[in-house]
Amino acid sequence: MNEKRCILCNKPYDYKYVMFGRGCLENLYDLLGFSKPPRIIWNKELYLCTRIAWKNHKFFLNKKKKYALAQKYIALNYLNIMNYEFLDDIKEKISKDIKSITISSKNMMETISFTLNDIYKLFNYSEKFNKFLKELQSADWEEMDKEIAKNFIKSMSFIFDVNKKLNPISYAVFYSMQYTFWQVVVVGGILANMKLSAELLHNSLSAFGRQPDD
Ligand SMILES: [Zn+2]
Repeated sequence: MNEKRCILCNKPYDYKYVMFGRGCLENLYDLLGFSKPPRIIWNKELYLCTRIAWKNHKFFLNKKKKYALAQKYIALNYLNIMNYEFLDDIKEKISKDIKSITISSKNMMETISFTLNDIYKLFNYSEKFNKFLKELQSADWEEMDKEIAKNFIKSMSFIFDVNKKLNPISYAVFYSMQYTFWQVVVVGGILANMKLSAELLHNSLSAFGRQPDD
């Protein structure tokens, strides 16, 4: 028997669902602002996909299309929560792909491809970054010990990890985080005399000078 893995968090699960583990499915109801399914519903995963289809004014889609639509719609919602301007293009493409799913559509249009797990990981990076940013803005840099400050900045250097910018979506998310970081640091006047900020700047610039495929 093949081990099933949740397409969102990639953890193994053992249940009848096709795409999601039970915990993630429950979270998705919350994320999308749907009320909990009635007890009588046997397949809460399929029900979620049906609700998504209805929300998009699509009725009588077959199962395969419903599942495909759900993945795109969930991705779009995560990108909306991340709320980065650099994602607008990508969101537009996903919206277009969503529109192209109809009862009569033969081939699924895929202007942009991704896995939900990729999107989920990016979402978690962005949440981590936001938390960090709040701390960064509320810290008292005048009073802070240099070593502590340095470690603090180091703890968020993941946003400069070139290996994570493998596709257009992660590229846009990482670019956005870096852009936001430099705005806060430069405009906020934080770290003006710190060597580490210069190192990070150097890393991020050389990362941008690279081609995505080298
Ligand atoms: Zn999961």
